[in-house]
Amino acid sequence: MRLTRQRVLVTGGAGFLGSHLCERLLREGHDVLCADNYFTGRKDNIAHLLSDPHFEAMRHDITFPLYVEVDQIYNLACPASPVHYQHDPVQTTKTSVIGAINMLGLAKRVGARIMQASTSEVYGDPTVHPQTEEYRGNVNPLGPRACYDEGKRCAETLFFDYHRQHKTRIKVVRIFNTYGPRMHPNDGRVVSNFIVQALRGQDITVYGDGQQTRAFCYVDDLVDGFIRMMASPTEVVGPINLGNPHEIPVRELAERVIALTGSRSRIIYRPLPQDDPLQRCPDITRAKTLLGWQPHVPLDEGLKRTIAYFENLLLEREEARAITPAAVQ
Ligand code: NAD
Ligand code: UDP
Repeated sequence: MRLTRQRVLVTGGAGFLGSHLCERLLREGHDVLCADNYFTGRKDNIAHLLSDPHFEAMRHDITFPLYVEVDQIYNLACPASPVHYQHDPVQTTKTSVIGAINMLGLAKRVGARIMQASTSEVYGDPTVHPQTEEYRGNVNPLGPRACYDEGKRCAETLFFDYHRQHKTRIKVVRIFNTYGPRMHPNDGRVVSNFIVQALRGQDITVYGDGQQTRAFCYVDDLVDGFIRMMASPTEVVGPINLGNPHEIPVRELAERVIALTGSRSRIIYRPLPQDDPLQRCPDITRAKTLLGWQPHVPLDEGLKRTIAYFENLLLEREEARAITPAAVQ
């Protein structure tokens, strides 16, 4: 079934998740406007979309108002990896909070549906396991992760207040660790770090004892959840967890990456960063019931696809390095 063409704004559309979402929306026949300040996003992520007449990219920082006419807004703009969001924590909070106010104001003015990319980080270092949406979390409001965690929590508050006060049609999803092609190779997240280290034959840096757990969702599965959430009945506002409930210790992830890359890298141990959650796994009952959604891509399959992406990327970079000196001479 072909949907009616919608004008869709994707903030953070040049980032990892945003670029996959833009692609999927174009495939479904929509007009896509990508707004990004390129803080962690890359033009390379969307270069292949620029020739599509239904795609438009604009440089814009969502901490400033945006005046466009759209039917749907996916608000993804925000650095997502701990290394990136701690780089300029004040800007991270501004992006979540002022950015949410601006995008909700836009949604209110044009009557658009708006979906917020919230995060499992709203649960902090959870004391309830697996995490259900009812759980209110265990966040340190003063720690180095607070700019992101509290910023996203405040954004959720704003979404629900706009909904109650202005009847804005909101959707809130809480995303758990997601991986796949176009992750930034230097963003410090565990999947990209381990794969890049393994492919380069460098030591694999496991933080802490590696017994902390995460549950990893492949990007295509997640984007499918976004689309289902946006298309869900108006009364489905969330929050809804989106993630893969297959939970593994970080050390096991390192071992799998070594096996799948055939790397000779060794595992080394580094201190666990402050406030690093010890366990994380989504309860996705709500997503299953309300959206008919669950992930399908097994971890090994998703890792293979991601490894293939990084192999190409590293090869291109090596070729570029090999070419540059000759070109300069
Ligand atoms: P990403 O860093 O690749 O993408 C974020 C994008 O937002 C980038 O393109 C960046 O340039 C842009 N951006 C940042 N600040 C901006 C601003 N002020 N104005 C305009 N653009 C801005 O990260 P991602 O993994 O694609 O994450 C996308 C969203 O999903 C984020 O909101 C993140 O919090 C959320 N999320 C992601 C994950 C995950 O595992 N990938 C988990 C939980 C939540
Ligand atoms: N981690 C690790 N080695 C790395 C990068 C991350 O052991 O090189 C650990 C990190 O301490 C955390 C988990 O992997 O326990 C996931 O980290 P990531 O930054 O990907 O996301 P988080 O889930 O913490 O937001």
